[in-house]
Amino acid sequence: MSVFTELSEAGHEQIVFCRDDSVGLRAIIAIHSTALGPALGGCRLYNYASEDDALRDVLRLSRGMTYKAAVAGLDLGGGKAVIWGDPNTSHSEALFRSFGRFVASLGGRYITAEDMNTTVEDMNYVYRETRWVTGHSANSGGSGDPSPVTAWGTFHGIRACLEVVYGSPDLTGRTVAIQGAGSVGYHLARFLKDAGARLMYSDISERRLARVMEEFGGTVLDDEEYWSAGCDVLAPCAIGGVLNARTIPRIKAPIIAGAANNQLANEQTDGAALEQAGITYAPDYVINAGGLINVNSELRGTSHEKAMQDAANIFTTVKAVINKAKSAGITTTQASNRLAEERIEAVARLRRFHIGS
Ligand code: NAD
Repeated sequence: MSVFTELSEAGHEQIVFCRDDSVGLRAIIAIHSTALGPALGGCRLYNYASEDDALRDVLRLSRGMTYKAAVAGLDLGGGKAVIWGDPNTSHSEALFRSFGRFVASLGGRYITAEDMNTTVEDMNYVYRETRWVTGHSANSGGSGDPSPVTAWGTFHGIRACLEVVYGSPDLTGRTVAIQGAGSVGYHLARFLKDAGARLMYSDISERRLARVMEEFGGTVLDDEEYWSAGCDVLAPCAIGGVLNARTIPRIKAPIIAGAANNQLANEQTDGAALEQAGITYAPDYVINAGGLINVNSELRGTSHEKAMQDAANIFTTVKAVINKAKSAGITTTQASNRLAEERIEAVARLRRFHIGS
């Protein structure tokens, strides 16, 4: 792979390759954009098949963070880090402190956080070496578990879709089918139940299903039943790639609005298929921005209540995205991408003159 070609094609600013043989660290930090602020994005630990795979992943993920922060209205850019290693054996203090020192060397241009296969404890080690880390434990000033804030934002995104489709955001008597009753799915079920919704769930974990059924009641669906469920909203909150050529033709619900990352197996073709089927789709990175809003509030030292208020604004953002898609005749994902790009360009233009010190 030609690194300079890859950099210019997706518009990345900087890639840092980090190697510390004394602790077995091989990591790549990608800074996609700092036009809006420091590049924030989690650190993923994964046993990639090759160096090219690791690089492609970090380039793709860091670009996604730029769009997510931009459309959420945050003063943050997009970045991401990957550590190439075995998640079962690579959680040593020395490895994460070494990674933290590389993060420190970027002077705040990149801010890290936990991500797939990294933990609050790992981030506590990073924090010993640099303050440019979020998501370390609450007792050392971190913001703790982001999933209630993510679920709160998703809840308001669902309300926005209901308003567009039915003319009212009211959840009373509406049925929402949640795929994945995990951290986010559980809190989402709680908010929906409190608002008067009827619930359906699908999960591969009997334990997780038992918990939501016991606390909130509802109906359990198997994976096949889930996609054709007779409900108002499908809320995928489990894994990526679930909206694809196999599932989309079976969907009867008029709305898809859930927190899972990368729901569209193919952004172009599956996004267009949903549009053609008349299904209102809330782009995942717009509706699930509560987690990022939560770490943003940690960085700025604002309260959990402020993070919840900001996450509730996802209502307005989701409506703006859907309205833009309708008026421009494009998919909702294309519309949110455009909104993000327009904001980045507008804010970058502000910096064209010097304002003194
Ligand atoms: P989690 O691991 O706590 O929960 C995921 C749940 O999905 C589990 O209960 C699991 O058993 C279930 N699941 C896995 N595969 C499934 C399948 N094939 N069918 C049905 N259920 C399945 O994860 P989470 O933190 O709740 O995150 C859920 C999704 O939301 C992920 O895609 C994550 O990337 C995304 N997300 C989470 C946050 C956050 O704050 N936690 C923020 C943004 C995005």
